Amino acid sequence: MIEINYCIQCGAGVELRVPAGDNMPRHVCDACGTIQYQNPKIVAGCIPEWQGRILLCKRAIEPRYGLWTIPAGFMENRETVEQAAARETDEEAMARVEIAGLYGVYNIPHISQVYMIFRGDLVDGEFAPGPESLETALYSEEEIPWEEMAFPVVVRALQRYFEDRRRGMFEPFIDEIQPMKR
Ligand SMILES: [Zn+2]
Repeated sequence: MIEINYCIQCGAGVELRVPAGDNMPRHVCDACGTIQYQNPKIVAGCIPEWQGRILLCKRAIEPRYGLWTIPAGFMENRETVEQAAARETDEEAMARVEIAGLYGVYNIPHISQVYMIFRGDLVDGEFAPGPESLETALYSEEEIPWEEMAFPVVVRALQRYFEDRRRGMFEPFIDEIQPMKR
C-alpha cells in the first residue's frame, strides 16, 4: 500500500484505519469523510506479430531501462482494455495493430497488478521507437533476447505464446506470477 498523508479532497491529514463496515485498513479523512481506496492496477499489453515475428521494445525508462518487453502499460480512464493495448503499441513502438483476441490474464498479487495481454497483428508492418523506447525490433522465436527481458511476466507470456502457436491453438487462460525467489 502506498503511504498517504493528506486527503485528496480537502487536504487535511488522514489516518490509516479500518472504516466502519469495512475489513481492510484505508486512508480515512475525519475532516470531510473521504476514504482513499487503493486497488489493483490493470496493465494492458499486446504481443504484436508480423510475418511470424514478434515486435519488442527496448525500454528507455525505468524500471528495467535498456531491457526488452512487449508493448504494455497502465490502462487509462475511459478506455477499453483492448484500446489500451493498441494505444500502448502505438506509443511505445509507433505501430498500428489489429487486436486479434485476448491472449491471457496474469495475476501478480504481490504487486497488486493484473496483466491483460492481447494478441495483435501489425496492420502495415511499420514500427519505430516511441519516446519510451530506445529501440524496436521484430524477433523470431529463436532470436528473442531471453536474457535481456525486462519482466518475468513477459518471459512467461512469450514462452507460452510460442508453444500455443506451435500447437495452432490459442485459448485464453489465467495464470499467476509469484515473487522472485532470492
Ligand atoms: Zn478530507
